[in-house]
Amino acid sequence: MDVTSIIDSLNPAQREAVSSADPYQLVLAGAGSGKTRVLVHRIAWLMQVEGLSPYQILAVTFTNKAAREMRERISDLIGFAPQGMWVGTFHGLAHRLLKMHWRDAGLPEGFQILDAEDQLRVIKRVYAALNMDAEKWPPRQAQWYINEQKDEGLRAAHIQQSPDPFTVAMLQIYHAYEEACQRGGLVDFGELLLRAHELWLNKPELLAHYQDRFQHILVDEFQDTNSIQYAWLRVLAGNKLGMTAVGDDDQSIYGWRGAKIENIQNYTHDFEAVTTVRLEQNYRSTATILKAANGVISQNANRLGKTLWTDGQDGELLSLYAGFNEQDEARFIGERIQDWIAKGNMRSDVAILYRSNAQSRILEEALLRLQIPYRIYGGHRFYERLEIKNALAYLRLLMNRHDDAAFERVINTPTRGIGDKTVQRLRDTARAHQQSLWAAAETEVENLPARASNAVRGFLAMVSELAEDYQSLTLDGLTDQVLEASGLLEFYRREKGERGQTRVENLEELINACRAYEAPDPDSPALPQFIDEAVLDAGERQAESDEDAVQLMTLHSAKGLEFPLVFMAGMEENLFPHKMSLEESGRLEEERRLCYVGITRAMEKLYLTYAETRRLYGQESFNRVSRFIRDIPSEVLQEVRLSANVSRPTSFVKKPATLSDEGSGSGFALGQQVKHKIFGEGVILSFEGNGPNGRVQVNFVNEGTKWMVLQYAKLQAL
Ligand code: ATP
Ligand code: MG
Repeated sequence: MDVTSIIDSLNPAQREAVSSADPYQLVLAGAGSGKTRVLVHRIAWLMQVEGLSPYQILAVTFTNKAAREMRERISDLIGFAPQGMWVGTFHGLAHRLLKMHWRDAGLPEGFQILDAEDQLRVIKRVYAALNMDAEKWPPRQAQWYINEQKDEGLRAAHIQQSPDPFTVAMLQIYHAYEEACQRGGLVDFGELLLRAHELWLNKPELLAHYQDRFQHILVDEFQDTNSIQYAWLRVLAGNKLGMTAVGDDDQSIYGWRGAKIENIQNYTHDFEAVTTVRLEQNYRSTATILKAANGVISQNANRLGKTLWTDGQDGELLSLYAGFNEQDEARFIGERIQDWIAKGNMRSDVAILYRSNAQSRILEEALLRLQIPYRIYGGHRFYERLEIKNALAYLRLLMNRHDDAAFERVINTPTRGIGDKTVQRLRDTARAHQQSLWAAAETEVENLPARASNAVRGFLAMVSELAEDYQSLTLDGLTDQVLEASGLLEFYRREKGERGQTRVENLEELINACRAYEAPDPDSPALPQFIDEAVLDAGERQAESDEDAVQLMTLHSAKGLEFPLVFMAGMEENLFPHKMSLEESGRLEEERRLCYVGITRAMEKLYLTYAETRRLYGQESFNRVSRFIRDIPSEVLQEVRLSANVSRPTSFVKKPATLSDEGSGSGFALGQQVKHKIFGEGVILSFEGNGPNGRVQVNFVNEGTKWMVLQYAKLQAL
């Protein structure tokens, strides 16, 4: 592929960015304007025109999935796979560095990554050791505190002691937590970044090596970098490497996790002569969708200010649907997707976006009922599921007997008669002798009461035996063996019902994943590589499977992606904007940016849905329609009525009664008591449509809520 074909398919502003000879660039532009496309083409340009080797390029993406996509797009453009190029997330790249330079980083060779849940467990252990009051200072609060400090690049030793009791307690915990992690070779997500940064500061010769190696850094989604990530980039770039950063201040949505929108300005100040390029043409969405997006984001006060336009078509209006409840909302979405598929479209071109993970279950159920394959990003990701984490903990223990987090997780899972008391005793011994729980168990086993002693001895023997097989078996063979010998598989087989079955299926899926696993480094053992990837990349893998499937994800994880058909579900006050954000204008602006991100994922058609009543977290709530809906210019929004009639919205706050023109002529009324031959007595909740295909929703005393076609339901008035 030659030079022209790299810039052929770009507009003038994009070309300028791709082919610039300036060392530092900032591309600041709205959604769908081709920022990511510019990055990909710039990498191709640097290699084909400037003569850089893949080896000299470092690219930072926001997710592992985006990193894989970037590699593919570059291969397509240049005609071969860019071997040796570093492309990954900040965490992934930091992990890679620490793996290679563990000694310089002050870590043991087989250090383990702690995910959020493991981290909390370690913090709870620290609480016990310190006799800290968990009522007064909830461990989650300490977790939040520690992560916040790390995102700012602060270790416990850097933080000034203060007389305020909160800081005193938090600092004490942070100190003890750091010690516990260091002792166990445990590294949480924030620590990965912190250590990678310290590596640059403490080992100048190593920094010099990488500054010689890399020539250019490229960063996507720059608006969501936090302080430590920016510091890491800044030190690496020094005044030696070139840098291209692309971002959109209107899409900064991780402020709550320490992201600093100010890094955009910092970049232009900290580096000399940064050229700023603005892209204004949107290639993704219809003019109608853009109008809605602009309407929403223009309500925010603190913006750098950009205009987006498209020369594309107006396209369809946005549709707004008010579900009677969350079930009805999910059913509506499912049926629209059915229509879409029936027209010959791909399922993978559809995304359902929501604010909170907890919303996914009802949506999943609706899709299952309609037999529409779907896939979930984030949330209950595969590798975050309980049974999978338990299985991985066994594998971790085989690699490193002194992995305390893994030990604690499985010592009594499945239950083998090792109670809390015994575990506490092991913890005390471990603490007293500054040793791992495993080592403590080995010494303490003789002193335990007979039953506990036997159980612990059995556990130690089982793990040791499995560890002997570790070198000789294949990854899937080993995992299979572990699941059987540990009793984990049997344990979940005995768990009754749907849930137990799903867990068993997931464990089987884990063996499949092991079988299909290709280790990046084929010359070293696969297991440690597999485990590290599983933790880092939590669940993004499942979305790679080949089956054509609808995509479900939170609004946060939709960043950077695009889909022809998009649903934004749960457009209700308290849910979105989230109730936690309502008191702070800064947080509210972030929610609005999140809404802008959601809307701008849609290419052709966007549905916005909400439920008039919703059961979430076990509570019934009646929420008003989201304020963001009001920010959308009314000429681009149409309300979909239950009967599928279409009308302009008059009022967004509808009471169920306004729907009651439906079902007229059915002989029944809303709220009427009825009887069904099989389901028994119930109350009419709502109607949908009229005539022979009109449907009725009945809440039966014994059977719960059901939708039925009136004609066939043969309801009897009571
Ligand atoms: P986001 O802010 O959501 O991350 P983005 O600015 O990174 O968006 P891209 O994903 O790079 O935008 O591009 C959006 C869509 O527009 C993609 O499908 C891309 O291929 C297409 N596109 C971008 N530039 C052009 C162009 N010059 N000609 C044709 N299509 C383009
Ligand atoms: Mg992008």
